[in-house]
Amino acid sequence: MKIRYFDNAATTSISEKVLMKMFPYLTTSYGNASAMYGIGRYAKRAIEEARRDVAELINATPKEIYFTSCGSESDNTALKGFAYANKEKGKHIITSKIEHHAILETCETLEKQGFEITYINVNKDGVIDINELVNSIKEDTILISIMFANNEIGTIEPIEEISKIAKAKNIVFHTDAVQAVGNIPINVQELRIDMLSMSAHKLHGPKGVGALYVKNGIDFEKYINGGHQEKNKRAGTENVAGIVGLGEACRLAKKDMEYHIKYLSSLRNYYIKKITAEIPNVKINGSLEKRLPGNANVSFKDVDSQELLFKLDELGICASSGSACNTGIQAPSHVLTAIGLSKEDAGGALRTTFGEDNTFDDIDFLVQALKRLICCNKE
Ligand SMILES: *Cc1c(COP(=O)(O)O)cnc(C)c1O
Repeated sequence: MKIRYFDNAATTSISEKVLMKMFPYLTTSYGNASAMYGIGRYAKRAIEEARRDVAELINATPKEIYFTSCGSESDNTALKGFAYANKEKGKHIITSKIEHHAILETCETLEKQGFEITYINVNKDGVIDINELVNSIKEDTILISIMFANNEIGTIEPIEEISKIAKAKNIVFHTDAVQAVGNIPINVQELRIDMLSMSAHKLHGPKGVGALYVKNGIDFEKYINGGHQEKNKRAGTENVAGIVGLGEACRLAKKDMEYHIKYLSSLRNYYIKKITAEIPNVKINGSLEKRLPGNANVSFKDVDSQELLFKLDELGICASSGSACNTGIQAPSHVLTAIGLSKEDAGGALRTTFGEDNTFDDIDFLVQALKRLICCNKE
């Protein structure tokens, strides 16, 4: 059976070019990057080349890039690392209600350790309430962490506005940009971002490797103790092949950005147009304008999305009802709840996130399948 994969927000296929670039570091160039002999030095050089490619994609300097094991580790390091290193300055942190669990659960941990967290509301499009953000800033606010783009509904947050507010109050600004990196242009200098999380497997790189950008001069405590890798900020023998893969994925993303955005948004617009024309009572979740190119999230009336996903899977279609991390959990998604969806609408939500491997024919197949499963079932 042909697999049609529409779950690129959960993970992406590894690009062949990325895999080829990684291959030598999984085979012949297996040296430890800390070693002084040839195959160690090759590994070290490859890591530094990857660091440049990662930095270039977001307009940072290589020194500001720290490799991690995943986006979740980047989020944990940014929040905990910064909070622990700066707790003398204050113990208040501001985030939003629609963050990824890697942020929300880290905040819960920090709360148990005596930090105070404010969770900002979002409007019906999923855009954070700027007034509420401004009003929640206190004397002892040290950090604002707002995601660049949401993983469920694709809404892009007003990052420039948020960082301006943070700068004016001398507060450090972190953004979980795992969904945005590689999908839309990001310039950390123009946007005045202080810390940023990313993950390779969301941009056609390998799983198990991520990066954290930390602007020069910002202090954070190391999250993994041990050796002195990553400028003594993250111990552990480097995942050389993974890092090389992340670097190559970033280089390719930068090169292909314009085409990527154009193609993915045309697939997405085609899908939304067809689905709203051919299936009654479809609601689009999230902002239509400020949205990641490949993301569509729609609610069908009187549909149980878990059941729908099961039937789609039988047809070789991979999609999602929310974030992949929520699969199996029956509670409605915290993101869909935060944008004001009823339990019924949240329970009938289908997230399809398109990628460059998808074709317009694939979308015709998807829409036909949905039509059959949703409309005709009831006749
Ligand atoms: C996927 C994702 C993460 C977690 O990244 P991992 O590399 O899977 O740990 C964090 N935040 C967002 C917004 C994500 O989409």
